[in-house]
Amino acid sequence: MKYIFVTGGVISSLGKGLTAAALGALLECRGLKVRIQKFDPYLNVDPGTMSPYQHGEVYVLNDGAETDLDLGHYERFTSGELSRLNSLTSGQVYETVIQKERRGDYLGKTVQVIPHITNEIKDRILKGGEGVDILITEIGGTTGDIEGLPFLEALRQFQHDAGRENVAFLHCTLVPFIKAAGELKTKPSQQSVAKLREIGIQPDILVCRTDRPIGEENRQKLSLYCNVGIDAVIECRDVENSIYELPMMLAEQRIDEIVVKRLGIQCKPIDIAPWREIVRRIHHPKHQVRVGVVGKYIELQDAYKSVYESIIHGGIANEAHVEIVRIDAEDLETKGTASLAGLDGILVPGGFGNRGIEGKILAVQFARENKIPFYGLCLGMQVTVIEFARHVLGLKQAHSTEFAPQSPDPVIHLMESQKGVFTKGGTMRLGKFDCQLTAGSHSRAAYGKDLIQERHRHRFEYNDAYRTRLEAAGLIVGGVNPQSGLVEIVEVKDHPFMVGVQYHPEFKSKPNQAHPLFAAFVKAAIEQSKKSC
Ligand code: GLN
Repeated sequence: MKYIFVTGGVISSLGKGLTAAALGALLECRGLKVRIQKFDPYLNVDPGTMSPYQHGEVYVLNDGAETDLDLGHYERFTSGELSRLNSLTSGQVYETVIQKERRGDYLGKTVQVIPHITNEIKDRILKGGEGVDILITEIGGTTGDIEGLPFLEALRQFQHDAGRENVAFLHCTLVPFIKAAGELKTKPSQQSVAKLREIGIQPDILVCRTDRPIGEENRQKLSLYCNVGIDAVIECRDVENSIYELPMMLAEQRIDEIVVKRLGIQCKPIDIAPWREIVRRIHHPKHQVRVGVVGKYIELQDAYKSVYESIIHGGIANEAHVEIVRIDAEDLETKGTASLAGLDGILVPGGFGNRGIEGKILAVQFARENKIPFYGLCLGMQVTVIEFARHVLGLKQAHSTEFAPQSPDPVIHLMESQKGVFTKGGTMRLGKFDCQLTAGSHSRAAYGKDLIQERHRHRFEYNDAYRTRLEAAGLIVGGVNPQSGLVEIVEVKDHPFMVGVQYHPEFKSKPNQAHPLFAAFVKAAIEQSKKSC
């Protein structure tokens, strides 16, 4: 069993998660079984209750764990399935240790960061990697953060527990260009590595984020001052078109070879063909389409991360370049739907809370009436039902009880099991559930099978009391959970593609294996673009 620890220095947002994911992808291309996990030093138990402004999207795993969006990168770049064991926060560590203390497990000892907190962290390293050849663990935050210290201390200890020959440290750092001096500066990297060495961690590989070539001289300087082999100073330029270029870029500098050598792993040479094909498709698309995403956190880069990635995957599957047009739902309420004109597809993603809800309903109406391909995810499915009930069934006050608790026509309502539950966080319908697809539906055709599993994260549901009327008017049920009977998919009849899903398909899409419904949606958008030409 081999371990790679990924840390970051100088600043956050260096693409540490992507680096870990891309390295995982390359090691898989060598036939190795890889898993990637994240340790986050913040005190929240999980990001489930954090605002998208704080933390971007919440990424949901099959087992229902609500995790950091980096786990999305890990699952998109590698084939291993992740579980709640692969996502750890300081909040969880302290919660576990305090519970043990209350139970008396420590037999009256003084409970301390070393060894009790660090033991708990080391235990999760061991558990997170069961059954694979290599475990990559990314430590969130930046070297020098107070809250990150127990994690780094645990890694320092772990290298002795597992044997130094079985552990590699990769440090991501920034090599900034300073305009006034007209040169790249290595000092911030030197200092962040010095900080790591103070703790007792010597990086083996340095991944240097930079906007231009670092050059031989800087490479030598970084190698000398940071005590890293010259080959192991990896230049990580900002990728031009797509994050999926990253594995190729790192492979060109033989990062996988350095890791394999450093850890003494016997494996086959790298076969990078699948990533080459993905990049080829991105660089040479045959089609061009414009898809609008109508949401409430549209100005944030990361709030709909997996949705944007999945749309790109749908494009890759269809050899299309998809231009994603971000549309603020509230703008539709105040300025009308002019911004939707000319789009080849419209997508409404998931969400919570009232803001922008009427704008989303307007987007649904526009797509339905103008027969523009439409795809609604979770809340996007719920507004599809509300819009249909209002404008086709004529139930003018139809709504979800999330937004209008007194609505006379609650077409979306709270699940029985959720009634009376008030604690936020972890009380939703979370994780993987079955869905039986309806013969003849768009969804059945796209998936190519009858029974599927998809991930959920919501409290409210399609109200079955309206099903007969909605179906008779043309809102077909495309899939149902066989255990509970809950409606999971709706589709508008006599429309090129209008599908709403109660789950989050964006958590199961990969660049080389686009989610079937995202692929079908982009395909429908391509057809639409041909019509409007
Ligand atoms: N707010 C809705 C619910 O809780 C939808 C949630 C979502 O889109 N993830 O059911």
